[in-house]
Amino acid sequence: PNSKTQDGKPRLLLMGQRRSGKSSISNVVFHKLPPSETLYLETTTKIKKESMHSFMDFQVWDLPGQFDYLDSAFDSAEIFSEIGALVWVIDAQDEYLEAITKLNATILKLQSTFPSINVEVFVHKVDGLSDDYRSDTYRDIVQRVQDELSDAGVENAPVSFYQTSIYDHSIFEAFSKVIQKLIPELPTLEALLNALCANCRIEKAYLFDIVSKIYIATDTSPTDIGSYEICSDYIDVIIDITEIYGKIPDPNEEFTNGAEQIGAKEVGNGPAESLITLEKKGNYLYLREVHQYLTLICILGDDSPTDRKGLIDYNVSVFEHALTQVFPR
Ligand code: GDP
Repeated sequence: PNSKTQDGKPRLLLMGQRRSGKSSISNVVFHKLPPSETLYLETTTKIKKESMHSFMDFQVWDLPGQFDYLDSAFDSAEIFSEIGALVWVIDAQDEYLEAITKLNATILKLQSTFPSINVEVFVHKVDGLSDDYRSDTYRDIVQRVQDELSDAGVENAPVSFYQTSIYDHSIFEAFSKVIQKLIPELPTLEALLNALCANCRIEKAYLFDIVSKIYIATDTSPTDIGSYEICSDYIDVIIDITEIYGKIPDPNEEFTNGAEQIGAKEVGNGPAESLITLEKKGNYLYLREVHQYLTLICILGDDSPTDRKGLIDYNVSVFEHALTQVFPR
């Protein structure tokens, strides 16, 4: 429905007050900028449209002063009719009352015009807060938003909250949850991943958007804390190796960060594939590129997979075939 456009990509809009962290988020998540370097970023000053080789599309909007972006004079309809989720960034280290007022005005407006847009509130920069203060702040923000909405007679608005920081994995996990809500095929993907895990004794399988390191689906077994981190570090290793030994990136290509070249090193353009052992944890990790933007990463537990590598390869090929039916290339 409205989360999709002709090219079938989930679309996101990132909004929030100046200095709340929008450009930092988009640079860390989509351009692999080290978090500490965001200190030197120029703040978002206008509407920016991002285009990248990713499974999703998104735009970053700033909210300068009194500019009323929902005003009828301003063509918000065109943009809002295209997006599936509005990510609203609130700086948890700053005064947030004004941000909440604006957020609520936006939610109420959207309720009457585009009620199916998910509003995803990122209570951001929580890394700088002590544990107690962090949960108090989070609860206070949630409470204030919900109270104001129910005062306005809105009870079931599709609003969710996340605690995020660019200094750890929380920003990626939050985006993963946001994106998964926009994928109507999610139950199919989960069923396919469940079957894959059951057929070749895989502990956990993730389907990653390689450029952003956001996972768009995983099997339905419980997730260990740390599984996501291991997989995401693994992607970094593979990308670094591809950058060094793979195809030389085309400098004319916008937003080239090596990620989209993954697999280019293979003879005959085969998909990228890798299997490594984590000595310390006694785990095996298996990675295979399965789609233009998507890569499968599996955690294989502690028995050596060498005797069933053929079985895994075969099942992954079956999975890959099924995936092309879900998302035609
Ligand atoms: P924008 O105006 O919304 O685009 O905000 P910026 O991305 O320019 O960020 C403003 C400041 O917040 C920068 O100095 C960032 O380094 C800082 N910042 C962004 N995200 C985080 C975070 O998760 N934690 C902390 N501590 N600082 C952050």
